[in-house]
Amino acid sequence: MEQTLSIIKPDAVAKNVVGQILARFENAGLRIAVTKKIQLSRADAEAFYAVHAERPFFADLVEFMISGPVVVTVLEGENAMAKNRELMGATNPKEAAEGTIRADFAESIDANAVHGSDSAENADIEINFFFAQRDIV
Ligand code: ATP
Ligand code: MG
Repeated sequence: MEQTLSIIKPDAVAKNVVGQILARFENAGLRIAVTKKIQLSRADAEAFYAVHAERPFFADLVEFMISGPVVVTVLEGENAMAKNRELMGATNPKEAAEGTIRADFAESIDANAVHGSDSAENADIEINFFFAQRDIV
């Protein structure tokens, strides 16, 4: 079974919609292998988004990701990565399709409710960033 990483970002956690977002994953046939609520340190956020280090929005992205707790989840299922990306909707919530998580819960491209791995290779890296293999069941 394919695994992918989801992060419910600080804006959605602050809105108290964690359960509603996790339910969308389950309703779409994805299984929660492990989940935890954590406060990212600045070093965590910088390391996690290192691929975007040269982008103009990097500093704001890091500030946002450490502005409050996040919920990190390993999702498992057939085509888990693509399915999660579909449920999330476009990066900019104004462009996100109706009924997607970002269309329904996100305010802006900076505060866009969720993160999802964008390839099988990145999913592996991101899962190992947050979880030990023995935690994933
Ligand atoms: P994520 O990686 O968080 O799942 P994504 O894969 O849809 O989102 P990326 O291109 O990987 O989008 O960008 C990572 C994050 O950086 C976005 O979720 C968004 O919060 C922020 N971001 C991306 N592009 C911009 C931009 N043009 N202006 C401001 N923030 C941006
Ligand atoms: Mg991305």
